Amino acid sequence: MEKVISGIRPTGNLHLGNYFGAVKSFLQMQNDYDCMFFIADWHSLTTHPTPENIRQSVRTIFCEYLACGIAPEKAPIYVQSDVKPVLELYLYLNMNAYLGELERVTSFKEKARTQPDNVNAGLLTYPTLMAADVLAHKADKVPVGKDQEQNMEMMRLFARRFNRIYNVDFFKEPQSYHFYKNAVKVPGLDGTGKMGKSNGNCIYLCDDEATIRKKVMKAVTDSGPTQLNQEKPEVIQNLFTLMELVSTKETYDYFDEKYNQMTIRYGDMKKQLAVDINAFCAPIRERILAFQSDEQYIQKVARQGAERASESAAKTLSEVRQIIGFRA
Ligand code: ADP
Repeated sequence: MEKVISGIRPTGNLHLGNYFGAVKSFLQMQNDYDCMFFIADWHSLTTHPTPENIRQSVRTIFCEYLACGIAPEKAPIYVQSDVKPVLELYLYLNMNAYLGELERVTSFKEKARTQPDNVNAGLLTYPTLMAADVLAHKADKVPVGKDQEQNMEMMRLFARRFNRIYNVDFFKEPQSYHFYKNAVKVPGLDGTGKMGKSNGNCIYLCDDEATIRKKVMKAVTDSGPTQLNQEKPEVIQNLFTLMELVSTKETYDYFDEKYNQMTIRYGDMKKQLAVDINAFCAPIRERILAFQSDEQYIQKVARQGAERASESAAKTLSEVRQIIGFRA
């Protein structure tokens, strides 16, 4: 079975956009591939050198992924900083990564612009650490968003270069898996654009019922259709898109028909949408709370994930050492 590895940044709570845009694909992938998921806490030091509470944010994301249905017995979840052999590969790859090519990476240039007082070497070598995370397990595929494409090209370049320099056919070139092509873009509740943390328009999977209701009832609408079967403007289409994700087809068709007949009352639609979003989130929310209060279980999953990943990475590193000429 093909190996898939995916890094998850511990950047806060999961929202509906993350769920339908990424996590849902992961849930499918864990059945179809030999998957591993890791939480990229080392990478977060490139932008947050003294994270307030890294342990807490790693734990939160851990609980939320488990609550969504990532099944660690099928797809181990581990914390990046628990798998030390990756660091050694990071070092070897850095020895053959050149300043010019690292400086040309768009995300580096962007970060260098946004944090001019902290253009650190970790930021510069973000692609080598990412390559080490993946190559250490000789993964076949990496699920990535569009923004990671360049890092994937670097990863393939580092793999080819290693093979060339040491005259081996050792690393295969991991391929990008564009899961987002099949994923829906989840709109925000503020009328335009997508749901996203930086847009402040998210419904989080951990939001309680009252919070969900409040957010949905505040969603932007217009003054209503003025013609039969009128095309829906973006603000309204967004509500329908959300409804399509969380409600039954009957509910969706009911409001669609009302819209087409110009008899829709957005208040009613939003009330129903809030109920359906809550019904969707409630079981996930309950599992998040259950996992959060089960420290022992979380520790166990993290430890088992770390063991599996460390074993796989240690094997690769032993071979890499031999290839380079160090003691295996
Ligand atoms: P945010 O934009 O909220 O910071 P991230 O950038 O951490 O979220 O997103 C992680 C992944 O979640 C993305 O690669 C993307 O696949 C998915 N995602 C985020 N927001 C949405 C959205 N509104 N619709 C669909 N997918 C999304």
